[in-house]
Amino acid sequence: MPRISRRVAGIAESATLVIDAKAKALKAAGEDVIGFGAGEPDFPTPRHIVEAAVAACSEPRYHHYTPGPGLPELRAAIAAKTARDSGLRVEPSQVLVTNGGKHALFEAFATLLDPGDEVLLPSPYWVTYPEAISLFGAEPVVVETDKSTGFRVGVAQLEAATTDRTKLLVFVSPSNPTGAVYPREEVEAIGRWAAGRGLWVLTDEIYEHLVYGTAEFSSMPVVVPELSDRCVVVNGVAKTYAMTGWRVGWMIGPPDVVKAAINLQSHATSNVANVSQAAALAAVSGDLVAVDEMRAAFDRRRRKMVELLRAIPGVTCVEPEGAFYAFPSVEGVLGRELRGRRPATSMELADLILEEARVAIVPGEAFGAPGYARLSYALGDDDLVEGVTRIAKLLAESRP
Ligand code: PLP
Repeated sequence: MPRISRRVAGIAESATLVIDAKAKALKAAGEDVIGFGAGEPDFPTPRHIVEAAVAACSEPRYHHYTPGPGLPELRAAIAAKTARDSGLRVEPSQVLVTNGGKHALFEAFATLLDPGDEVLLPSPYWVTYPEAISLFGAEPVVVETDKSTGFRVGVAQLEAATTDRTKLLVFVSPSNPTGAVYPREEVEAIGRWAAGRGLWVLTDEIYEHLVYGTAEFSSMPVVVPELSDRCVVVNGVAKTYAMTGWRVGWMIGPPDVVKAAINLQSHATSNVANVSQAAALAAVSGDLVAVDEMRAAFDRRRRKMVELLRAIPGVTCVEPEGAFYAFPSVEGVLGRELRGRRPATSMELADLILEEARVAIVPGEAFGAPGYARLSYALGDDDLVEGVTRIAKLLAESRP
């Protein structure tokens, strides 16, 4: 009998965390490494949120379990915030507070998927999705997109990938890793198609507030209300309020699905840390001033990064419209001689860039998109310029 269960042995390590760990180890060894790997804002959590947590720490009622699905006032505040920000109206009882958005999507998949079900997963996808889907015995059916469509999937492609085993579509806009944001009419077309097909949709709205230029975020169950009975929304405080370490997210869904997920959570993790819930309450019931400031900084860095990347011969970059990632194609520099090596894949190239230029990027393979790389622009302006300049200088040495 194997020591590790087949289910868990099949899970690959998160490539973004691998790169991050490699970069951190080099840094700890005294190396001057610039990391474009991390998926988190570089800002501290806003003061008023931290203060709410500090106050909660000294109050004994925050030292105990909360109801499994979350503090009632937090569930109500999340329902109110959702109506304010995306226009989706739900009852507080339809909100389940989870240990981050990641936990919400694991619970959503656990609740909705059976072995043999197929899940439509547009690529490039966030690393966690295929693993989470497979863990519950379902099969991720990857629907490929590339730079030619701005990494957005269309109804015809989805239809072609659908079988009588298809249960659910994963929809992420703004997208990690590509930064793609679906315009309202495309959200509507996909939502109507899914509703017409009787499919479920898991819509990941964690980057809802990080959109730039003329791009606008649209929530699928708002644009297509008839989908509401088969739609689960995943969200959290991590990216909007620079709160990745506090681990608070949530899922919103139809009452029967949320009730079933609450039953699951009651045995698995009980409630989210009480003090973290107090912090999240301050975040979601407060204003959006801090995220407006972060967005302005991310926008400036986004434009700088795209400009610098596009200036590198062999690199092309679709303009990201949301989240905080650029997703350039590095195909034009693959297969060339560079410092005695000839990187043939974006994985090999990322390794060489880390070793030779001390810059960490995440290879596209991690997102089901060989030939590309993901660079987070959630880091300081100076480091951003220095990091991309180092890559440019290294690649300038490459020869056919
Ligand atoms: N969804 C997407 C698309 C993400 O990029 C992330 C984090 O990187 C999450 C969900 C989960 O965020 P968290 O678990 O930190 O709330």
